[in-house]
Amino acid sequence: MACIFCKIAREEIPAQIVYHDELATAFRDINPKAPVHILVIPNQHLTSLHDAVGEDHQTLVGHLLQVCAQIAEQEKIAQDGYRVVTNIGRNAGQSVDHLHFHVLGGRPMHWPPG
Ligand code: AMP
Repeated sequence: MACIFCKIAREEIPAQIVYHDELATAFRDINPKAPVHILVIPNQHLTSLHDAVGEDHQTLVGHLLQVCAQIAEQEKIAQDGYRVVTNIGRNAGQSVDHLHFHVLGGRPMHWPPG
């Protein structure tokens, strides 16, 4: 499959991986928008969070969110606060069609997002 995040999860192309288990992989974003910017992905291909709706994926989505929180601890951004974001589809600006949660921290952030 040509999906770049599938290749990262299979360690077929280089990435700065900070966490990996049988369900999930986390790695540094190549174009960081904050001092800490990690992407948390399922190892299996799902196009977006919308694709993961339904009982089959409840455990997986819960696990991915747990990994996000664990990464925030690991990267020492939890105490000051951080943001977890997933973009779904064109209007939200999703540019890679493999479900990913952005974990962003290390600076104050604005709300609402642009
Ligand atoms: P989104 O726009 O929500 O789909 O986010 C996709 C993110 O993937 C962007 O922040 C990109 O900088 C990041 N990205 C794309 N290719 C790579 C890569 N090979 N390694 C790490 N991050 C990547």
